[in-house]
Formats: sequence, C-alpha cells, structure tokens
Amino acid sequence: MTDPRRAVPRTDAVLADPRLVAAAARLGRADVKRVVAETLADVRAGTLVAGDPGDVADVVVRRLPTPPRRVINATGVVLHTNLGRAPLSAEALTAVGAAAGYTDVEFDLATGRRAPRGRGALAALAAAVPGAGGVLVANNGAAALALATTALAGGREVVVSRGEMVEIGDGFRLPDLVESTGVRLREVGTTNRVTVADYAAAVGPGTGAILKVHPSNFRIEGFTGSVAVRELAALTPPVIVDVGSGLLAPHPLLPDEPDVAGAVAAGAAVVTCSGDKLLGGPQAGLLFGTAEMIATLRRHPLYRAFRVDKLTLAALEATVRMPANPTWRALTADAHGLEQRCGRVARGVGGEVATHDGAVGGGSAPGTTLAGWAVSLPAALAPALRTGEPPVVGRILDDRLLLDLRCVDPDDDDVLVAAVAAARRAAG
Ligand SMILES: *Cc1c(COP(=O)(O)O)cnc(C)c1O
Repeated sequence: MTDPRRAVPRTDAVLADPRLVAAAARLGRADVKRVVAETLADVRAGTLVAGDPGDVADVVVRRLPTPPRRVINATGVVLHTNLGRAPLSAEALTAVGAAAGYTDVEFDLATGRRAPRGRGALAALAAAVPGAGGVLVANNGAAALALATTALAGGREVVVSRGEMVEIGDGFRLPDLVESTGVRLREVGTTNRVTVADYAAAVGPGTGAILKVHPSNFRIEGFTGSVAVRELAALTPPVIVDVGSGLLAPHPLLPDEPDVAGAVAAGAAVVTCSGDKLLGGPQAGLLFGTAEMIATLRRHPLYRAFRVDKLTLAALEATVRMPANPTWRALTADAHGLEQRCGRVARGVGGEVATHDGAVGGGSAPGTTLAGWAVSLPAALAPALRTGEPPVVGRILDDRLLLDLRCVDPDDDDVLVAAVAAARRAAG
C-alpha cells in the first residue's frame, strides 16, 4: 500500500491556483493559507482524498468564507426573511453609497455646527405620518418595542391581551422580549376574545402601559373579539401599539393590515413597526408618537444602544421619500404581465407556465394570497439553480420546481433563462 502522505500536494502549489490567488486578494493571504493548511491536514489524515493541487484547491474554494451573495428570489414570497426581507430600491442604494464615507449625518454644513442625527430620515418619516408629534428610529421592530415598553413601564406592568402573546419566528417570542427589559406582563382575556372591561379591570397603580400587538403572522377566525386602539386609548395608561409590518398609511391591497397613521389617530401614545417589511426599506424599527412620548424615549439610556447607523438612516430616508420600491412593485405586479413574462421565460428554458399564488411574507398579511404565475420545471433542477451563479431560489411543490417571477426584476428574466440552462447542464 502506498503511503497517502506521498500524494499530499505542497501548500505553495495549491496557493498558486488562480482561484485562490484571486481569493487571497479579496480575503487576505493569511485566511486562504489557513484553509489550505486545514484542507491538507485532512488529506494527510485520510479523511479527504485529493491527489493533485487542483483537487485540493477545489475543496479550499468551497471552504472559503463567502460574502453575502445576490440571490434571485423566484419563490413568490415578497418579504422572504431568509432572503433578507425587503430589497432596497435603487434610490436607497445610491443614498447608502453617498453616506458610506464621511457624511453630514450629525453635522450642519451651513453653520458648521453639530446637527440632530439623521434629521433627514426623521423629517421624511414625520411628513409621511403627519399626525405623529414625534418620530424615532431604532435597530429593528423588536428594539423599538423593547425601548417603548421599558421607557414607559420599566419595573411596572404592561397589560396585554392573551391573544397577542405572539412568536414572531425562529423561536422568538414577543412576551419574552418585553419581560427581558424588566417589565411584568399582565395578560387579559382569552386566546380568542378580550373586551375593554378586561383591560379596565387589570389597569391599576402598577400599570405603566397597555400594549396592543398586531398578531401579524397568523389569523384567528370564528368567535373572536379584540379591542380597538381608540377604546384602549380612553383608559388612563399610555397605549403602545406594535403594528409590525410598517404600513404607514392604509392600503387597499392589504385591508386587514393595521397602519401607523391609523393607530396614531386612534390615540396611541407610541406606535412601533419594522423598516424592512411593508415599508420596503432597510432593517430598522420605527417609533411614532406624541412629541412628549418620543422625547422621553430619545432620552432613555437604552436608546443609545438601539440607534441605527448612518447607512440605515440614508436608506430609510430615500425609501420614505420615494415610495415606489421593489417591494411594492412585487406586491402590485399585474397578473397578466406576470403570465406573459412566464411565457417568454418558459419558452426560453423549455418549461411550462402554471398558476401560482405569491405571498406577502415576513409575517405580514397571513391570509392574503397574490394571484400570479410561475414557470414549472423538474424539481431535480433546484439544487443546481440554488448553487449556480447567480443563485436562484424557487419553490418546490408536488415534485415540480416553480419559478415565480413576481419578485424577479424583469431585467433579470434573461439572467434566469441562462441560469436554468446552466443548471440543466450541471444536472446532466
Ligand atoms: C416583525 C414583527 C416584529 C419584529 O420586528 P423586527 O424588525 O423583525 O425586529 C415585532 N412585532 C410584530 C407584530 C412583527 O410583525
């Protein structure tokens, strides 16, 4: 038997592979060399069989850290949490690029003095919800909610309906978040029903706030009852409303989705939501409320830990000022146009056109389906498409791979056709 160590290539020979030379320029030579050394150790240990430098380099290329990659979302799910929720608009991207270096995020160029941080984003948000007396931006919806409950009810109670004690995904439960900030939750009502009398009976000297959460990712149907913000606002404690999805004003496409302006008008003291759901912007948590409440939140020590960076502020401002964005283009894509695009792509790839319902996703509008179309292909193509360049993620249903074009930029239709052709070749 030959000694396997005799077949182990030299480190320098592996590092000379053009793909690894390019990777070293991107990642630094030390990182690439470390992965080469680990891979060669596996060859020596016999857990990996690789004879020549090219074989080893193949493995190293797969093991190198990769930056986040652009993915074509052909799932039909507009706000796909695993695919980064809302895609940024071109305007937001440009704004991020401009703000990436030194920028006037906290500086007034006219006077040469310090200026309020992110004032442009705050002004755009204030203009979008004119009824709110103040606006604040935090890292995400969860941070916004944690800040609001701590600032208003730290060490005291928050009254909340049992039907709104929700898990928002990945084992993450809102009640746990609220309690982690030193707030005690006082649950009222039952899973399906709660009345204003339930809230009134629970409110007492130890109550810091009433919390109303939009149970955004499921629906309870049948014998149900909840209490409107307006009725809660008639009770004494301040009302915090977590609307979740970031719809700033009502929209006919999503009639069941609560909006920020409506909650503010109904008398909420603070309204919280996400920036990267229905707003179509960057990850952020928005807080709207009375001027006094927002001033209290801004002064809270925790706000400093939750504030956002200059890139988020830039993307947020551009998103709010320019409401046409990829999220809303996908949500409102016309079914006939989608059918025509699917027809063209199907002809290009040898697939069939099939009806397919898209979804809002991101825990928003669970009952809403977005009627549309998809290109239907053999499910066996899915892995090759996912690992191709650019990666394409579709939906597997009944042994077919469905490529829904709702969330695909029409400019990428040809890229998709080429990706399917490459996947067919890779899949043999
Ligand atoms: C999505 C959501 C959150 C969490 O927001 P993130 O921005 O993901 O932190 C909180 N509450 C509700 C109702 C939500 O839908």
